[in-house]
Amino acid sequence: MHTIQFDNQFLKKLPADCESGNYVRQVHDACYSMVEPIKVSQPQLVAYSSKVAEQLDFSSDFCDSDEFVEVFSGNKQLDGMQPYAMCYGGHQFGNWAGQLGDGRAINLGQLINSKNERYILQLKGAGPTPYSRSADGLAVLRSSVREFLCSEAMYHLGVPTTRALSVVLTGEQVVRDMFYDGNPEPEPGAIVCRVSPCFTRFGSFEIFTSRGQTGVLEQLVNYTIDNDFPALGKPCREVYLQWFREVCEHTARLMVDWMRVGFVHGVMNTDNMSITGLTIDYGPYGWLENYDPQWTPNTTDAQGKRYRYGHQPQIAQWNLFKLANAIYPLIKQAQPLQEMLNHYAEFYNSSWQTMMASKLGLVEFNGDEDEALIMDLLNTLKLVETDMTIFFRRLTEVDVSNPHQSDDEFLAPLIDAYYVEDQLTNTYKSKMADWLRRYTQRLATNSLSTSDRIKLMNSVNPKYVLRNYLAQLAIDKSAQGDHSLVNEILEVMRNPYEAQPGKEKFAQKRPDWARHRPGCSMLSCSS
Ligand code: AMP
Ligand code: MG
Repeated sequence: MHTIQFDNQFLKKLPADCESGNYVRQVHDACYSMVEPIKVSQPQLVAYSSKVAEQLDFSSDFCDSDEFVEVFSGNKQLDGMQPYAMCYGGHQFGNWAGQLGDGRAINLGQLINSKNERYILQLKGAGPTPYSRSADGLAVLRSSVREFLCSEAMYHLGVPTTRALSVVLTGEQVVRDMFYDGNPEPEPGAIVCRVSPCFTRFGSFEIFTSRGQTGVLEQLVNYTIDNDFPALGKPCREVYLQWFREVCEHTARLMVDWMRVGFVHGVMNTDNMSITGLTIDYGPYGWLENYDPQWTPNTTDAQGKRYRYGHQPQIAQWNLFKLANAIYPLIKQAQPLQEMLNHYAEFYNSSWQTMMASKLGLVEFNGDEDEALIMDLLNTLKLVETDMTIFFRRLTEVDVSNPHQSDDEFLAPLIDAYYVEDQLTNTYKSKMADWLRRYTQRLATNSLSTSDRIKLMNSVNPKYVLRNYLAQLAIDKSAQGDHSLVNEILEVMRNPYEAQPGKEKFAQKRPDWARHRPGCSMLSCSS
């Protein structure tokens, strides 16, 4: 095996907390605090991602060893690891929340692989840090399996994301009040090892500006440009603006991808927004089952639904506005920042149009005509409970060569997408069939062969997504000591755009028992 090499640039280049004790405090003028993971009693492997292991040059012998479990439960460190927790702040649900920081995440170090790529390894749930506020620094099995599976599913869907190497049980019990309803219960404790080139958040910049620490702000911005945006060149005011423009574009692309696959993050606070445009911090996220722009999985957000599916692109812009405020001391002019925020909206809109066109198999988006076609489809999808993933995937099976089919014939290939048979009234069916007739006409002017159109559609409309109930079934089994379903789902989610014979059950719509089951449709921030 290639020797595992670490080069902890974040520690070398940026200022450290001068206090070394592990107690809760406000940390000033520093980007991180050194802190050790706690030791756990009986670490046990639940699963690891062989694809992530490969990227890190970890051999399967190492991944199957006791040493691996010891290292990724925080019990043992490899040479070169220097554990630290990062300082950041954030706007939570629209309000400035002050210092947050890695309250239960501990970075082990920055690994360099044989291709000279750098990855930070981070344990989530490895014990308290100076940023833990009143919480325990721990995580439970259900949220850890959810993060592990979802980060890998997102990666293979082509959505920018942090990855997950492993999930281990600690052997300890952790008490959680899952629905904040006064019923705390012990749950199995677990630790995920997250992997990403960068864990810096919008809130990492906001904290310094909120405290008037422009010197550290500048150091962190320069570091981020040098390390995560090296193509921009040597940091200076002009480059800061180009950098902000890139952040806006990365964020827009991420939103387009979330909208494409029906992902709802659930807690888009500025501390959960990656500066490199990755999906980060998998908490009470969920996947759209029936297409409903108002839906959020997060019961903590049930009232205002700030982070509902259809609102994510606007929230991202609001978060970018907070980031613009945070870097303002380096720019000292509002107008260029405002221009970038406007650019975000334009860039998002045009990317969304191209994405939606590709979901329909159209080579290009043709202005108002296609805008109306797409909006009418989305409005029709909302009328009755329609599974978004199945609908778009099955759209390729509609016979578009015969506009004279009956409504029922048109709808036949899509019928599995509907949750409630009684909702399929004649009025609804004729509306949907009319839309399909229009779609058929539109395809006549599309310059793609049928097979190329289907290829395009199948490359953007996944067959398999991490349906909420699937993750829950895997968690239930794992809690009984059987981790086979975690591994099976991990495997299926590796090829989400391909039909996988024998795995069709993972592509089916949510069964009725899961409609109101906690963990399947309702989640809270408790994890
Ligand atoms: P989140 O909304 O889950 O991203 O968390 C917001 C903040 O709370 C972050 O600073 C987390 O590190 C911190 N946090 C969440 N859960 C815990 C926990 N169990 N122990 C310590 N800190 C936590
Ligand atoms: Mg967070």
